[in-house]
Amino acid sequence: MARYTGPVCKLCRREGMKLFLKGERCNSTKCSFETKSYAPGQHGQTNRRRLSNYGLQLREKQKIKRIYGVLETQFRRYFANADNEKGITGTNLMKILESRLDNVVYRIGFASSRNMARQLVLHRHFLVNGKNVDIPSYQCKAGDTIQVRENSKKLVYIHDSMKRIRGDHDLPWLILDKAKMQGIFIQVPERDQMGLDVNEQLVVELYSK
Ligand code: SF4
Repeated sequence: MARYTGPVCKLCRREGMKLFLKGERCNSTKCSFETKSYAPGQHGQTNRRRLSNYGLQLREKQKIKRIYGVLETQFRRYFANADNEKGITGTNLMKILESRLDNVVYRIGFASSRNMARQLVLHRHFLVNGKNVDIPSYQCKAGDTIQVRENSKKLVYIHDSMKRIRGDHDLPWLILDKAKMQGIFIQVPERDQMGLDVNEQLVVELYSK
């Protein structure tokens, strides 16, 4: 599946918030958003137009897509699935995105960004329920076990990333066994457990036109 490969810090500046796309750098003083918190481009510092409703909806959609590293076609597909499920479409959409294997690997702490998690999954560093899974968009189900492969347990990237986790894991829908380098996706998280400052309802409004 295709993915965006351009400069990612520009995306944060465009969306006016930190999207945490670069791992450790995002929490350091090198974060571009901290030093240049205006939109990129020639008119980034001067153009302060008020966005129309459509503009707001579009920006929110772009923000969510960029956070999860998903392009338009796949995002549309997720939306169609969310719309077909029972419940609130926006919440369903967020649950689908949060259940992606690359997101779960990142949330557990095996990778410092979703992008790195995606690369690690593609390079077959994880087992899901004991089987090789190299599909970043794989939808995790309640009870799935995600484990670092035996041969990959010495990978510096994974160890460096796991150093970030101190004490108890703070996401109640995931369990991490640091010693075994294994996590359990206990359940699909509720919307208020995702800790994401986005308004998915605007995406529903955009696609319902
Ligand atoms: Fe965004 Fe991270 Fe770049 Fe900062 S360092 S602008 S949070 S991607």
